[in-house]
Amino acid sequence: MKFPPWTSVSEAARLLKTGEVVAIPTETVYGLAGNAFEPKALAKIFAAKERPTFDPLIVHIADIAQLSDIAKDIPEAAYKLAEAYWPGPMTIILPKKDCIPDLCTSGLPSVAVRFPSHPVAQAIIKESGLPLAAPSANLFKHVSPTTAEHVAAQLADRIAGIVDGGPCTVGVESSIISLAGEKPAVLRPGAITPEMFAKVLGSVDVKDSTSKPGQPMAAPGQCDTHYRPQVPLYFGELPAGYKLPANTVRIAFGKQNGPIPATVNLSESGDMAEATANLYAFMHDLDKPEYGLILVDPIPNAGIGMALNDRLKRASVKALP
Ligand code: AMP
Ligand code: MG
Repeated sequence: MKFPPWTSVSEAARLLKTGEVVAIPTETVYGLAGNAFEPKALAKIFAAKERPTFDPLIVHIADIAQLSDIAKDIPEAAYKLAEAYWPGPMTIILPKKDCIPDLCTSGLPSVAVRFPSHPVAQAIIKESGLPLAAPSANLFKHVSPTTAEHVAAQLADRIAGIVDGGPCTVGVESSIISLAGEKPAVLRPGAITPEMFAKVLGSVDVKDSTSKPGQPMAAPGQCDTHYRPQVPLYFGELPAGYKLPANTVRIAFGKQNGPIPATVNLSESGDMAEATANLYAFMHDLDKPEYGLILVDPIPNAGIGMALNDRLKRASVKALP
């Protein structure tokens, strides 16, 4: 790996204006940003990540007023949600304006928009003067980065810059809500829970965010193998009598008993926000060839725990080694 291309807010903004791609910190995970209006910059994002172009990108803004530069027919509900949860870990899907290239939305007539709360992300968006398309700054299907070092390990020699804004405080990708259909629908669980959406909008649908074997995906990007470390990770009940491979490690949660002692603990006190902020960093740390299997304790499937269960199910091998 070459020396990582560490850069500053103002240099990042300059690079982005010239059509380069730069990794930036956000409160959810690090993003690989490029000018959302510029197909060549978008193509560089897909190429660096080896991401298939059927998986659309989220566009990041730094002011609610920027929403109308990107989306059209914006319903009142979008402004209510923006008022309640922006800046923050919420992405809204809305009908797209023609100025957003098809490459950004994988040909969909809708666009995903988010206003992140991370001050460094906001400074870069403002200084570039551009809406920034930014998927997570990792190779396709790999674990999302929650530190600048995670980004450097995967993408250092593929991108123009990396801005270090410290570890991500949320640690899991944004909640996605679609306002482009008949009824508001949560497409991906995250830190903004269905209950929080319902508080603002009345009722919301919650889509199953994984695809079913043999059935087409309800929305792009719902691959049921995603966020996977190289070492097999298993999230589920172990079959009776199963013999653990040598060098199995365990990501514990709270004070549960497991088949082996805890290697690391997401949160000893069972705090869900702490667990979320730690999960991807632990997955990166334990993704080493000397380990045979990563076991993860059960996590309550409520609130932000739904996001953890969703990501862990997709990270998990379906059959034990
Ligand atoms: P990320 O991988 O965090 O950048 O999030 C991108 C995900 O947002 C995609 O994989 C899709 O699941 C979702 N997404 C983005 N744009 C749209 C859209 N227009 N309609 C539905 N889902 C979208
Ligand atoms: Mg991603």
